Amino acid sequence: MSSPEPKKGNSSSGKEQTEVGNYFVSNYPPYSFWSPDQVPLAHEVMERDAPEDYPLGIYFHIPFCRKRCHFCYFRVYTDKNAAEIRAYIDAGIREIEGYAAMPYFKDRKPKFVYFGGGTPSYLSVSQLQDLTDRMKDAFPWDETEEVAFECEPGTLTEKKLDQIRSLGVTRLSLGVENFDDHILELNGRAHRSGEIQRAYSHAQSIGFPQINIDLIAGMIDETEENWLRCIDQAIKLAPDCVTIYQMEVPYNTGIYKEMQKNGKVTAPVADWPTKRRWVSIAFDAFVSAGYTVTSAYTVVKDPYKTKFVYRDALWGGSDMIGAGVASFGHIGGVHVQNEHEIGAYLNKVTDGDLPIHRAYSIDNEEGLIREFILQLKMGRADMDYFSSKFDADVNDLFSKPIQHLQEEGYLSFDGQQITLSRDGLLQVDRLLHEFFLKDHQNARYA
Ligand code: SF4
Repeated sequence: MSSPEPKKGNSSSGKEQTEVGNYFVSNYPPYSFWSPDQVPLAHEVMERDAPEDYPLGIYFHIPFCRKRCHFCYFRVYTDKNAAEIRAYIDAGIREIEGYAAMPYFKDRKPKFVYFGGGTPSYLSVSQLQDLTDRMKDAFPWDETEEVAFECEPGTLTEKKLDQIRSLGVTRLSLGVENFDDHILELNGRAHRSGEIQRAYSHAQSIGFPQINIDLIAGMIDETEENWLRCIDQAIKLAPDCVTIYQMEVPYNTGIYKEMQKNGKVTAPVADWPTKRRWVSIAFDAFVSAGYTVTSAYTVVKDPYKTKFVYRDALWGGSDMIGAGVASFGHIGGVHVQNEHEIGAYLNKVTDGDLPIHRAYSIDNEEGLIREFILQLKMGRADMDYFSSKFDADVNDLFSKPIQHLQEEGYLSFDGQQITLSRDGLLQVDRLLHEFFLKDHQNARYA
């Protein structure tokens, strides 16, 4: 195995304004290395039987939103009518049935199901019922430990929340982002603070096993005073889990388009040290309120009760069918991503094909690095686990980046266990590149 090279210098000493680019590392190797040439490798895997007891999940992408947030880089549509949404759901079901017919997925049941977007809660009650009934026909949910569902607060009526609960959703995730109406409006969010309170109260009253709220540190016009108020309000709601992202400005966002138009290099949002400080303040406030920091982005009220099966299984290398336009999946060691335009996606499904656009077959070393960096996002990694799972000398492989990051104060290492410092945790996505193979470093996550 070749050792990844540490990055030169320490960019934390620079000004660290927020410029265009993807900060968040969600997978490895970077997407720019995935290609249509490797799609046949995914099909080859699916012709074989799966290893016994290998966990499976299903992700379903709902690409519709009421309006497009200025910071959004996801594949979303704001102009589709009921007939087009119906056609999309039909295609998604056909896609899932296509997977169910492959030997690799025969008789398997999902451990987790995740509805992401876009805005899954944009669907009507009847569309949701139809979608989930037909999904369960293809892959029964009777052994499913977690059904996660993302919501935009303004799309939730009491009736819809009741329905979402009755479908079997166990983890409701509310995209709150901020509690201030001016900031919500300026950043292009469709919902307002009153809708957050209404949706949250009803969701809590009907007993979802787990409610998560998302916040973003550093939206346009955010101030320290307002951020502190947001933290206070989040603590008052007392959700089971809070996920805090640091505002990034990827290439295909409205904010970047505006920057280009005005010839700006720096985004009109807080710089990285400020965002890190705000997340750190939030972590401290939640810890004082009895929460535990469980990753670079999450605090949970009860770490023994509040699990996130989707994240843990996926980061641990489980299989996941990624259904819907532009969705990502992972099948027997092959990363896959679907067609990323709805027209191309629907055409492929109509032709009876799986709509996979690009793929990447990871080798043992890439699988190790992938799982290692994703676990570091939780703040720690146990070298023995990786040595035995991947039959590799992990200490040797990662010795340079570990030493470098230790010298910079981002982690401590006792020869067995890596533990990130708070400073390391708050900028973990930037540091993870040091563990990448040389060819993958500084690649765009697009
Ligand atoms: S609600 Fe989410 S997916 Fe929809 S536009 Fe806003 S950020 Fe994007």
